[in-house]
Amino acid sequence: MKNLITIIFLTFSILLIAQTDPKIYDIIEAVSEERLRNDVKTLADFGTRHTLSDTLSDTRGIGAARRWIKSQFDNISKDCNDCLKVFFQKDLVAKGTNQRIVKDVMVVNVVAIQRGTKYPNRYIIMSGDIDSRVSDPTDFTSDSPGANDNATGMAGAIEAARVLSKYKFESSIVYLGLSGEEQGLFGGQGMARYAQENNWDIIGVLNNDMIGNIEGVDGVIDNRTFRIFSEPITTAETDPERLARQARGRRFYGGEVDGISRQLARYVHKTTETYMPEMNPMMVYRLDRFGRGGHHRPFNDAGFAGIRIMEAHENYTQQHQDIRTEDGINYGDTFEHVNFPYCKKLTAVNAITMASLASAPPAPSEVGIGGIVEPSAKLKWNKVDGATGYKIYWRDTTSPTWDYSRYVGDVTEFTLEGIVIDNFLFGVAAVGEDGHESVVVFPNKIMR
Ligand SMILES: [Zn+2]
Repeated sequence: MKNLITIIFLTFSILLIAQTDPKIYDIIEAVSEERLRNDVKTLADFGTRHTLSDTLSDTRGIGAARRWIKSQFDNISKDCNDCLKVFFQKDLVAKGTNQRIVKDVMVVNVVAIQRGTKYPNRYIIMSGDIDSRVSDPTDFTSDSPGANDNATGMAGAIEAARVLSKYKFESSIVYLGLSGEEQGLFGGQGMARYAQENNWDIIGVLNNDMIGNIEGVDGVIDNRTFRIFSEPITTAETDPERLARQARGRRFYGGEVDGISRQLARYVHKTTETYMPEMNPMMVYRLDRFGRGGHHRPFNDAGFAGIRIMEAHENYTQQHQDIRTEDGINYGDTFEHVNFPYCKKLTAVNAITMASLASAPPAPSEVGIGGIVEPSAKLKWNKVDGATGYKIYWRDTTSPTWDYSRYVGDVTEFTLEGIVIDNFLFGVAAVGEDGHESVVVFPNKIMR
């Protein structure tokens, strides 16, 4: 009897331990507010980082800024036995491509890849932006510190590289500085094309754009809440026949809020709630702010999962503004307005999401579901190389998050007894040795 109790206790503790990984807490601790502060200051001090600004000076303009960013990644790489592959990715954008491109410009991104040990061609990406702007989007000479928009996202990506380069991961992690955002999302387009041309298997893109403001124009001060924007379903499919088939499928089986970007958003939400319960992740069920855009969109356009991570309360007097004082209001996106304890928290959210995903096996590619007019729901999926088990998730049809789950071990089909298929939505995730999980996959096959 005593032995049995011991066995039950041990089994139970192993299961409990498997749910969190102590390494993740170390990663949160290692993110440095001080380094973020220094890096945002350095970036803001380049005067302007407008995409069309000077590229020759060593102290002012986007050329100096991108060389400095590359030098940071190079230094990080030196400290980890060349664990990063660092390079510029560039595309020429011709004058007149749109109204904001008033001269030919080379749009240059900075890329740093930490190669995965087991799945080198699978990538989880964290992006920030290099470029900044003032009131007139074609003004490439005026001072444009872009401290919050978006030196914070850029500094976050550099800091995440410093922290995560101390570890090894099964999948590759990319730290990315994108240019041309304010001119029309050109850097993201170039990088998404590069990823397609090189057959990258992208797990997801975490686009960070403005992660340092806690005092909103709405008067709310909040250093706990942040937003995760995601589009509901992919818009990359263009074949009319397949589109019609998908729409018909969604009408009868659901899936209108379960695209790949939405699953990535739920993953960030879950990872934050698990490891950083002091934070308040807020999923927003739209691509981006109302009528506005960001650098995850070109990745979505190319068929990749991508989301935007962002402060919850924006301040428009400090966004895309000429630096000036008017009616007692200090306009401009200056260094003083950035809250670094908050910026540190959001950087940590990225770092732990990437560490978890890069430690997890790939998600199953095929998930079938059945159980029409039955008292149980059946799920079946393909075996994933590297997975030690699988977890079925389900939720009420009105819930934004996967609220119920069951670890089912190393099997490829399972029947949830007593769970009526009509009343829930379902998905399956692969689980790795240390408990890290893939994103949840919504069923893509109906079993009859
Ligand atoms: Zn902006």
